[in-house]
Amino acid sequence: MTTTMRAMQLDAPGMPLRMVERPLPGPGPGEVRIAITACGVCRTDLHVADGDIHGGLPIVPGHEIVGRIEAVGTGVSGFSVGDRVGVPWLGHTCGHCPFCLSERENLCDQPLFTGFTRDGGFATHCIADARYCFAMPDAFDDVHAAPLLCAGLIGYRAYRIAGDAPVLGLYGFGAAAHILAQLAIWQGRKVFAFTREGDRTGQDFARRLGCHWAGASSDIPPEPMDAAIIFAPVGALVPQALKAVKKGGRVVCAGIHMSDIPAFPYADLWEERSIVSVANLTRSDGTEFLDLAARVPVRTHVTSMPLAQANDALDRLRAGEVEGALVLVP
Ligand SMILES: [Zn+2]
Ligand SMILES: [Zn+2]
Repeated sequence: MTTTMRAMQLDAPGMPLRMVERPLPGPGPGEVRIAITACGVCRTDLHVADGDIHGGLPIVPGHEIVGRIEAVGTGVSGFSVGDRVGVPWLGHTCGHCPFCLSERENLCDQPLFTGFTRDGGFATHCIADARYCFAMPDAFDDVHAAPLLCAGLIGYRAYRIAGDAPVLGLYGFGAAAHILAQLAIWQGRKVFAFTREGDRTGQDFARRLGCHWAGASSDIPPEPMDAAIIFAPVGALVPQALKAVKKGGRVVCAGIHMSDIPAFPYADLWEERSIVSVANLTRSDGTEFLDLAARVPVRTHVTSMPLAQANDALDRLRAGEVEGALVLVP
């Protein structure tokens, strides 16, 4: 059995990730050690690498982890060696703050986030708190399951908060939108996809998945929408989306970071339109979404790359060259 692990580590924002070798860590109480088979690359990883958001350094990014449990710490229940699990962004919560006590553990005062404030999945192995791991549905192989763990799961929280919207707009048609569009269409909703100006490939992709209409983010959609979810990190989309939703419409900002939102006339918010952000996930979001995703079933479109090419993967995401989701395979 191997005694070391490899990881792509971020030493400082703006620097490329660096391959490091470390002794294989043992799981502490309540923890499991996972041999990673796939880890998705999320826009949040890009924000961490670029220094848009600050957790701890050095850090191993990656929070869409699929793998098999290799070692189990004391006091772990529900999982054993050999089980296939998923590790999401929410790595730990305190269990006693007002948010944890009111079923809003996504807003915990003392959380740990995978790949941000504790080492994540751009690696051969990781340690995770077993209580925050998910059993993964058999409907998905490892590589196709990985994007469900953030793009899918936090996307789903945004989707839930968007409400029961028969006509739904998705701004930024990347990993999250391509998953949520499939769920929304399966539920009988009409989906409008908004991409960057001139992104014909992205618009074709959205139409192939069954979106009713696809266009540029500055386009006025064919009819007013009940709600919009913004996945792109572009603050200027907020007033654009407000103009495209009906009276009472909701605009949900789903990303962890966005450029500044420009000033806009109050009239665009008037008539009970609202803007809300979505942060993190709860474990019940996760179990609910994974069950739904298997029932649809959601087909994730995935490009897999070797772990050592994590920097290339981040570059491709930054350039907007990805159709669906990118996944690193150790
Ligand atoms: Zn808490
Ligand atoms: Zn993410």
